[in-house]
Amino acid sequence: MYAMVLPARGVPLTFSERPDPVPGPGEVRIKVSACGVCRTDLHVVDGELPDIPYPIIPGHEVVGRVDALGAGVGELKLGMRVGVPWLGFTCGTCPYCREHRENLCDRPKFTGYTRDGGFASHLVADARYCFPLGEDGNDASLAPLLCAGLIGWRSLVMAGEGRNIGIYGFGAAGHIVAQVARAQGRAIYAFTRRGDEEAQNLARSLGAEWVGSSEEKPPAELDAAIIYAPVGALVPQALRAVRKGGRVVCAGIHMSDIPAFPYDILWGERQIVSVANLTRQDGLDFLKAAATANIQTHTTVFPLVQANEALACLREGRLVGAAVLQP
Ligand SMILES: [Zn+2]
Ligand SMILES: [Zn+2]
Repeated sequence: MYAMVLPARGVPLTFSERPDPVPGPGEVRIKVSACGVCRTDLHVVDGELPDIPYPIIPGHEVVGRVDALGAGVGELKLGMRVGVPWLGFTCGTCPYCREHRENLCDRPKFTGYTRDGGFASHLVADARYCFPLGEDGNDASLAPLLCAGLIGWRSLVMAGEGRNIGIYGFGAAGHIVAQVARAQGRAIYAFTRRGDEEAQNLARSLGAEWVGSSEEKPPAELDAAIIYAPVGALVPQALRAVRKGGRVVCAGIHMSDIPAFPYDILWGERQIVSVANLTRQDGLDFLKAAATANIQTHTTVFPLVQANEALACLREGRLVGAAVLQP
């Protein structure tokens, strides 16, 4: 197998060949056909997440086919197309796992962070955390659903039932969630960086009710706002845009500090919440909703060996939609 490996904090990924991994009991080996590039990969590469076990292979939006089965794997078959998401393992015994909140597990493993991920020709995954993807849709288009879509879905559910939904940061997750929300009959208010014409055009083409820059006040009060950009300053801006009783959902794993703000923009039972990880049920619910809503992802495909270039494009905001690597 070969992979783009992160050898240490804050250095570029390096191409590396290794012996093919052998799946242990309950695991499968997957031949990767596409892997999305998520902002969390940037946080891993930059060492902004704690306890990274270097060397590590990033990538947690993996689409591929099962090409070896470990002992005791029942559900997945050789040749089956599957997706491997961020949630790679949960303990099953901690208080969170026991109350069906495995996204908050005390002893989790995460694909592409604490276990090797999909910036590779092959990876080994715990079969219980893989999603069968069926045969509809092409591999590169499906890859962004595995995190941007899934976390986007969880954040939309967390946003509640309101009609007017603000999306701050219209990238990989934003453009998928906008389609789901539109299919549910909701109105999307898309906030981008000032002057980001391409993201604004994408939002318009997906039926956004209003498109503007993050500093602007939308023409209607929002029932909820979801923040995908890792920018703490957006929290008070979003609070100013939501109605009484409204909610601001922070969907990233890492965010710059939130600046101080006057209490009166929180007053009126407004809420700030965060979304962490996913449960397997989120995945099943979302993949069903995505098929119904006929989600079309906008992707830029890079060869796997150009993973550093893809990360640089994401960092600099030069992508429209999502980046996907193909080995
Ligand atoms: Zn647990
Ligand atoms: Zn992700």
